[in-house]
Amino acid sequence: MKEESMNFVFAPPPIISVPVIGQPERFPVHRIYCVGRNYEEHAKEMGYTGREPPFFFLKPADALVVVPEGETGQIPYPSMTGNFHHEIELVVAIGKGGKNISASQAMSHVYGYAVGLDMTRRDLQNDMKKQGRPWCIGKAFDHSAPMGPIVRAEKLAQIESAAIAVSVNGKVRQSSQVSKLIWNISETIEHLSAAWELQPGDLIFSGTPEGVAAVVSGDTMVGDVTGLPTLTVHVN
Ligand code: MN
Repeated sequence: MKEESMNFVFAPPPIISVPVIGQPERFPVHRIYCVGRNYEEHAKEMGYTGREPPFFFLKPADALVVVPEGETGQIPYPSMTGNFHHEIELVVAIGKGGKNISASQAMSHVYGYAVGLDMTRRDLQNDMKKQGRPWCIGKAFDHSAPMGPIVRAEKLAQIESAAIAVSVNGKVRQSSQVSKLIWNISETIEHLSAAWELQPGDLIFSGTPEGVAAVVSGDTMVGDVTGLPTLTVHVN
């Protein structure tokens, strides 16, 4: 059926998409999966020790704030929080779907990588944790997922040894190495695809290292992962 002949009760939302470096075609986004506590030192600062199986939460695709290369993204200071945290993360973009993907096959499902920020209303997340309630209000709110453009995987030979860092107003807050992931990219895809059938267009926010902290209105965050375009985001 041709789109113009289809009738909707209101205009459908636009397709969310992310630019890909070096080509005109954009990456259409399906879902955003996020991994919790996937760096040891961050797990510790959150009050946990030991290797636990990876666990996941989701953000809606329209929580993305897509920031083109060289530009500064703008996010509003969100409602209902007094403790708005940055979490710098390597984002894995899935190009080929599947379920029960083995770690040994996982890399063939990866389209590329980007820098992302899993912005968190930490006070609300902590309240929900204490009450055993879902994290959605702390994690899956509007504008909670700024990310930069995607670099295709074949252009990044050494993503597993990349440095990952974020500074706020020029001062380094989080600084680590992707090699310190508790569950590496392949293992994360293996676990994730056992629970959900991955689809092309899925994004995986792979977890944040230690040093999560608050930002306030007027702050500028600059996130970097070796080999990827810098992600700059201003809090309005
Ligand atoms: Mn996170």
